[in-house]
Amino acid sequence: MWTTTSSSTGAKQPTSTIIVGAGIIGAATALFLAREGVQVTLVDRDQAGRGASSRNAGYISMITRSGGPQLELAQLSRTLYSRLAEELNDFEFRANGALVYYYEEQLPLIEGFVERRQADGLPMEIVDGDRARELCPLLPEEVIGGIHSKSDCYLHPEKLVDALTAAAVKEGADVVRADVLDLVVEGGRCVGVRTPSGVRRADAVALTAGSWTAELLAKAGLPFHVLHMRMQMAETAPIEERLDTAAYGPSLFHEYAFVRELPGYDDDIVLHPLQHIMPEVGLLELICQRADGRLWLGCPIEFVDGPDASPNPTVAGMAQTFGVLGDHVPSLQHIPVERTWGGIAPQTGDGLPVLSDVAALPGLYVGSGHAYGATVGPGSARVLADLVLGRPQEIDIAAFRYDRPAITEGMARAVSLG
Ligand SMILES: Cc1cc2nc3c(=O)[nH]c(=O)nc-3n(C[C@H](O)[C@H](O)[C@H](O)COP(=O)(O)OP(=O)(O)OC[C@H]3O[C@@H](n4cnc5c(N)ncnc54)[C@H](O)[C@@H]3O)c2cc1C
Repeated sequence: MWTTTSSSTGAKQPTSTIIVGAGIIGAATALFLAREGVQVTLVDRDQAGRGASSRNAGYISMITRSGGPQLELAQLSRTLYSRLAEELNDFEFRANGALVYYYEEQLPLIEGFVERRQADGLPMEIVDGDRARELCPLLPEEVIGGIHSKSDCYLHPEKLVDALTAAAVKEGADVVRADVLDLVVEGGRCVGVRTPSGVRRADAVALTAGSWTAELLAKAGLPFHVLHMRMQMAETAPIEERLDTAAYGPSLFHEYAFVRELPGYDDDIVLHPLQHIMPEVGLLELICQRADGRLWLGCPIEFVDGPDASPNPTVAGMAQTFGVLGDHVPSLQHIPVERTWGGIAPQTGDGLPVLSDVAALPGLYVGSGHAYGATVGPGSARVLADLVLGRPQEIDIAAFRYDRPAITEGMARAVSLG
């Protein structure tokens, strides 16, 4: 089953790979492997992308990635996105940056935040209120400025997974609708997966089953500790104004540990009063616009017991979204809401995904634990594909190993969203 031809590291390259889970990570991995001539079977029990990957806000959020491995992975991904936008079917890729608008109260935090992020290598500048309103015409006069993060971008998540899957199929990948019941292990090696219609075999199995990864690993006796988040979105009717960038409001700052450690940070200057009433709901305060003029508003976050919790928006989640955004950006208040939805995404205790082989089970690779998988998806898929191919990596991937305590032993709670 193994070719004698080999990767540049001299390792044997698999001729066939089963990828379990056709979200952004699985679909992009399928594309990268199929391009290298690997016979890929991408298996999902649902339509491709209908897990978290088609439900997200589509923010390629560079500004919220903490320095180090997170940011390196996001930067790799960002480079790949520019290429994918040229190669794939249109997925509404908008590379105009993101704006974090702010009011007088947040001023003590802004300069320190921007200095820190520039030192991390992120291109950004502080703009005045008028420029902020040019980028996002919905903002009120009370907005005194904004941070324009130039490398951020956004896209249409469902179109992205559809485009990745279509490209993978064009390169020869098979997409199969089947529930993977468990991994098939023979002679201490993962040799395939079991589905209701029988066993499928391959040289390698890549597990990219998002929030459901832990269930499949547990059946093979492998621990995988993650928390589960219900994240929610709302869509309005189309509006005439055009937003040039994706926008974030100031409550965003509260969700990231590296921001909370900055001088000038204080919960009281970033949290809206409604957030004190519902402290168990986090809020990535965001507004972006689709090509058809509709606004997407989000994104409240609640921790739930497991991946099969209802993904549907909650009263608290929507109350916070509409309450905080409606107060910060009053021009939103009377735009009709046409649709709401939610999804479940995993969060590891150290905020990093797992992109790794598994020493205890050769033949198995894991690409999971993504809380911000739209941002790092192509980068994670590149790493995973290169692991399967036995090729040298473009970035240091030591921090993403499966066998780290945050994954195998778990942590009481996640340190930060990012
Ligand atoms: C509302 C919301 C907003 C978000 N906003 C952003 C954002 O703006 N930016 C960002 O970077 N991230 C965002 N995220 C997070 C992002 O969506 C996820 O990190 C990402 O989609 C994870 O991708 P994935 O491929 O790992 O998992 P998923 O997309 O969940 O894919 C897993 C797939 O595995 C399949 N599967 C599971 N078990 C099995 C099995 N046993 N057999 C067969 N198939 C199986 C599922 O059907 C599913 O299709 C958001 C998430 C949500 C819910």
